[in-house]
Amino acid sequence: MQRERGSWSPSTSTLSKANAVLAATAASGDLYRNGLGMIASENIVSPMVQKIVASDLHGRYAEGLPGKRYYQGCNDFDTIESMGIELAQSVFNAPFANIQSTSGTVSNIAALKALAKPGDKITAVSTADGGHISHARMGAVGLRDLDLSTYPWDEERMEPDIDGACALIREVQPEVSLIGQSVFLFPTPLREIADAAHEVGSTVMYDGAHVLGLIAGGVFQDPLREGADVMTGSSHKTFPGPQGGFLLSSSEDPKFHRKLNTAVFPGVCSSYHLHHVAGKVVALAEFEEYGGAYAADIVRNSQAFASALAAEGFDVLAESRGYTASHQVLTRHGTTDSGAGAKAAQLLEDAGIITNMNMLPGDTKAMTPSGLRLGVQELTRVGMGVLEMQEVAQLYARVLLHSEEPSNVKKDVSNLKSNFQTIRYCFNDEQVTGYPF
Ligand SMILES: *Cc1c(COP(=O)(O)O)cnc(C)c1O
Repeated sequence: MQRERGSWSPSTSTLSKANAVLAATAASGDLYRNGLGMIASENIVSPMVQKIVASDLHGRYAEGLPGKRYYQGCNDFDTIESMGIELAQSVFNAPFANIQSTSGTVSNIAALKALAKPGDKITAVSTADGGHISHARMGAVGLRDLDLSTYPWDEERMEPDIDGACALIREVQPEVSLIGQSVFLFPTPLREIADAAHEVGSTVMYDGAHVLGLIAGGVFQDPLREGADVMTGSSHKTFPGPQGGFLLSSSEDPKFHRKLNTAVFPGVCSSYHLHHVAGKVVALAEFEEYGGAYAADIVRNSQAFASALAAEGFDVLAESRGYTASHQVLTRHGTTDSGAGAKAAQLLEDAGIITNMNMLPGDTKAMTPSGLRLGVQELTRVGMGVLEMQEVAQLYARVLLHSEEPSNVKKDVSNLKSNFQTIRYCFNDEQVTGYPF
């Protein structure tokens, strides 16, 4: 059938699908607005970043580097990216920064492309001990066809067994010694590992995806001064920017810088999501102003939250080390491989508290772990402090220890959250000029 020009409309079923997406998007926003977002890899972006990621930059291309482009129309973006590189160098105290990569995983793929050839050797933390999938054969390490050996793990200290890791590096002599995890409670004693690695000519790569905001805020560790040659990370976990990645280096060598830049483009990106890059640059500017306070408040809150959970009767990991020195807290809810972590995560979601189940030492199956991994960076960002951490621990206890009906607890969750609706540690609307665009 011929459609008349001007009277055309999408079929009802197609339009209703699109509207269903809008409705689900709004519902997801409500879930987090009224609930407690406590997934350790998540965060919320500032009002200014929100505006930028919805801007016209979304549809644009700028391959290459500022001043060296393959497309016209990039002058304004050159301003943004060159400012961003400088801000990243300053915020991370790094001689080299690339702000193009579209995620932490993409940063890792680019770094491994620059640092290793197929068949080369790499050492890393195993996924069972908290290493990221991109450090595994099923992820970026396998994609680059690297020969992986994993460090022995110290379950008591929740970090690589340092003597064992150094011995492994001396024995294997890997091209890349990779450090960093997704379960990241304490700074890694990096100096000794880096010394062992450099002794055998290995490049030290530190994956700071989770802890990048804590590192930049000066409250965790300073990998680029402790022997890491390259640091990768996500721009949206404890670093409170839009989704994306960073690639940083302590090297002063322009040849090495070129190698890292070309590994990102043309290595693993064509379009590198200019709206997100611009959002990262604003987040860097905001971080330069407020990041130190934000990072310190995160760690203070996670330590308060861990102690409060323990006081309620929860089994919180790493008690002997004061539970945590990062944004994360780990809790065990039953015997290993029992699936108690999965059950706990579901009950908490029913009460409006969003978390994730996690494997803990001794667990062998990712779908039936005994633990939860909790993060306080998002609650901190909306202004919650030590007192609220105690309130949140009580809400956990009501759901998980005292078997109260989750829907009952949910009312108190949303009451608590209703007082924390303003994003902090960022520029506010009155400080922002130059809209709309
Ligand atoms: C989250 C994470 C990544 C991947 O980051 P994405 O931005 O989600 O791709 C890489 N490494 C570690 C250790 C992580 O925890």
